[in-house]
Amino acid sequence: MFKKRVENFVCENCGEGVDGNGYTNHCPHCLWSKHVDNDPGDRANECNGMMCPIDTEEKDGEWRVIQKCQKCGKIHKNKLSPEDKFDKLVQINKNP
Ligand SMILES: [Zn+2]
Ligand SMILES: [Zn+2]
Repeated sequence: MFKKRVENFVCENCGEGVDGNGYTNHCPHCLWSKHVDNDPGDRANECNGMMCPIDTEEKDGEWRVIQKCQKCGKIHKNKLSPEDKFDKLVQINKNP
């Protein structure tokens, strides 16, 4: 049975409070996230490393931020939400 998880958390990178919507686990302020999923939303990974945004890509009008785990080095693509800071995204594009 599908259960939506809504988690509010405090970003461990920038310290901003984030209202979870059940899907997003990255911070809309700095676009960092935490390595907790194997598949999106499953929270099955015990790495818990911080995932730093290193690049962005646009595909079919949808933006993704590409994050790299600081602990295990895993590359992960994260779909952006409308509430994410777009100027932050542009910054990452300019300064990879
Ligand atoms: Zn943050
Ligand atoms: Zn990791």
